[in-house]
Amino acid sequence: MPKKAGGTMYGICIGGYIPTSFLDFPGSAAAVVFLKGCQFRCPFCHNPELVTPKGETDLIPAGQILDDFRKRKNFLDGVCISGGEPTIQPGLLPFLDLIRAEDLKIKLDTNGARPDVLEQVLASGKADYIAMDVKAPWEKYPLASGWGGNIESVKESISLLLGSKTAFEFRTTLVPGIHSLEDANPMGRMIEGAPLYVLQNFRPGHTLSPEFSGRDPFPPEFLEAFRETAAPFAGEVRIRG
Ligand code: SF4
Repeated sequence: MPKKAGGTMYGICIGGYIPTSFLDFPGSAAAVVFLKGCQFRCPFCHNPELVTPKGETDLIPAGQILDDFRKRKNFLDGVCISGGEPTIQPGLLPFLDLIRAEDLKIKLDTNGARPDVLEQVLASGKADYIAMDVKAPWEKYPLASGWGGNIESVKESISLLLGSKTAFEFRTTLVPGIHSLEDANPMGRMIEGAPLYVLQNFRPGHTLSPEFSGRDPFPPEFLEAFRETAAPFAGEVRIRG
C-alpha cells in the first residue's frame, strides 16, 4: 500500500477526471486525470480551481480512479495526466507505475518548470508521450506564466525533451494581449528541432484572471501567419482546435 503523503493516500491530489476522451492523447481513447496545484499563474488559465486549490485532499480518490482503469482497461488505450502541474505531486512517479501496471499508455502534460522530475520520467520510460507548454518568448515568460521562478528550468526541460527518445510535442496557447506575430520567430527558435509544435488559440470564458475572460480570440489568419513563421523550426507546426 503506498504511503500517505501530501494529505492523500497516493501522494497525489486529484481535482478532476474525464473517464474517456478522444482529444487529449493523440490517437488514443484515454482517461484524463487532472492533478491539483501549479507553480504558474497563467492569467488565461482555464482551470483556476486546479491552480489554487483549497486543501490537499483528493476531490476524487486516486484508488477509485485506479479501480476505474482496471475495470475499463480493455476499452482504454491510455491515461493523460494533466493539471494543474503534475510534476509538483510527490507521488507522481509511483502513480505512473500503478497506471503502467494496468498496461495503459501514459501521456504527461507539463509546464516544464521541474526538469528534475521530467528527467526521472524520461529516464525511467514511465511516459509514452509528453506535451510541454512553451508559454511565450523568454522576455514575456513572467507575463504569460505569472511565475517569478528561474526560467533556466524551463530551458532545461526543453533541452531534455529535444534530446529524448520519448515522443513529445511543444505547445503554445496564443493569447491576445500577450502574444504578437513578432513572437513567432523567437518562439520557433526556442523549440528548434522539435518534431511537433502545436499552436492553440485562446478561448474566452472562465479564466484565472477575470480580465482575460471576455477577450476575443485571435482570428484564424493570425494563427496561420504565426504557424508559417515558426514552421522552419520544427518538423511540423500544427494548429489545433
Ligand atoms: S495554464 Fe498555466 S496556471 Fe494553468 S495549469 Fe497550465 S501552467 Fe498552470
